[in-house]
Amino acid sequence: MDNLELWQSVLAQMQFHISKANFATWFQNTEIISKDNEKIIISVPNAFSKEWLSNKYNKLILKTLHDIDDSIKDLDFIIKPQSSRTTPDITGHTGGRPGTPESEKQEDTQLKFEEFKINKETNLNPRYTFNSFVVGSFNELAHAAALAVADNPGFTYNPLFIYGGTGLGKTHLIQAIGNKINDETKKKKVKYISSEKFVSGIVSAIRTNSMEAFKASLAPIDVLILDDIQFIAGKNKSQEEFFHVFNSLYEKNKQIILSSDRPPNAIAELEERLRSRFEGGMIADVSLPDYETRLVILKTKLQEKNIDVPEDILDYIATNVKKNIRELEGALNKILIYSKINQELNIETAKKLLKGFIFSPFDVANYKKIIETVAKFYNLEEKNLFDPTRRKEIVRPRQVAMFLLRRELKYSFPAIARKFGGKDHTTAIYAYKKILQENEENNKLTEELNLIKQRIYSG
Ligand code: ADP
Ligand code: MG
Repeated sequence: MDNLELWQSVLAQMQFHISKANFATWFQNTEIISKDNEKIIISVPNAFSKEWLSNKYNKLILKTLHDIDDSIKDLDFIIKPQSSRTTPDITGHTGGRPGTPESEKQEDTQLKFEEFKINKETNLNPRYTFNSFVVGSFNELAHAAALAVADNPGFTYNPLFIYGGTGLGKTHLIQAIGNKINDETKKKKVKYISSEKFVSGIVSAIRTNSMEAFKASLAPIDVLILDDIQFIAGKNKSQEEFFHVFNSLYEKNKQIILSSDRPPNAIAELEERLRSRFEGGMIADVSLPDYETRLVILKTKLQEKNIDVPEDILDYIATNVKKNIRELEGALNKILIYSKINQELNIETAKKLLKGFIFSPFDVANYKKIIETVAKFYNLEEKNLFDPTRRKEIVRPRQVAMFLLRRELKYSFPAIARKFGGKDHTTAIYAYKKILQENEENNKLTEELNLIKQRIYSG
């Protein structure tokens, strides 16, 4: 495998571990420039990337490299400004290498990761369109609402709030709205911003006393798309400023589109007035696709890339990779990379390649996972769940944890009691029954349990 192929495989893997936005930001214009003995040198476009990659992703990159080629033991980054070289984008196309027959040949067989044509004006990735978005019962409400908003921004549902677990198509869908509006009328100014970026914009505006300028920069926007808005939870100053931004756009019938990993009423530490704004428009969820839809998604992706994969392999992937759509794509990409390098591909090899993507529920839901997920969901530290307290904020999550240990892992009541500091096992029975009963009566709890379970099985 040459350096280019090696780096492409690493990049393909990276996509499964980090968000699209991060991926696009940090891995653009990177390449392996040398490999001597055990050390790989990666070039990056600037000092900022270098610092970020070596602090945050060093381990992950090294592990991925090592998994592909176990002679690799070390890694370093050097800065190589863009202008001084021909820059392969992530597809491996070397933009300006004229007349290399090989780069021509690569054109069709390349896996196309088009993250890098992100529109500078809108921040939208043109890959995310309605056309490439597969619709099934798991996402049809969200899809319909998104289309309606795209057709009449500002007037149909405002705000539009899309929520669901990770890798289920939220970013794709909300960007598809932006792309459709942007393609159909150049008159409307669309802006996509991750909430992380948005919050850091607010924070630095506050710090530099330039809040007015920050707001002025948002004023011309007709369609504001904020991804992963749950990120704003607990950040009080940012929430306050966002509230004002929200109102001033809303009053002018500007469209606001939000995504989140959970519905507004399950975002802890969200100011009440923001919550009620979020709930004032349309709320729609995306959930997990079934087998048939998974198969359709795989086929759609292959069509986009113009590649064929034997039916039995597709069936194997669709049957077994159930976690989310990002994983489904990941599994497919792994197969494609393999077949590109090795040509031969059969079901046995595919099974071997996909080991890492396939879990049985019992591998995934274990004691640690349940405790960790419940604590995180309710914004608590794990140890809080074991606090001997009757505070409501703790008692409810603790009961949920006990309930899930019983329900998902079939723990005995005495075993649950032991885990929770030797409590009398009647406490565990009480917790189980209480949650079971309330689950029947209380929609909010049912929704919370669903979201928690989704996370347990998809994390
Ligand atoms: P989320 O924002 O919910 O974490 P993404 O929108 O990033 O998920 O989706 C993860 C990957 O799965 C993306 O590559 C996206 O294109 C793909 N994907 C998600 N939903 C669909 C869908 N309904 N049809 C086709 N591809 C999808
Ligand atoms: Mg997303």
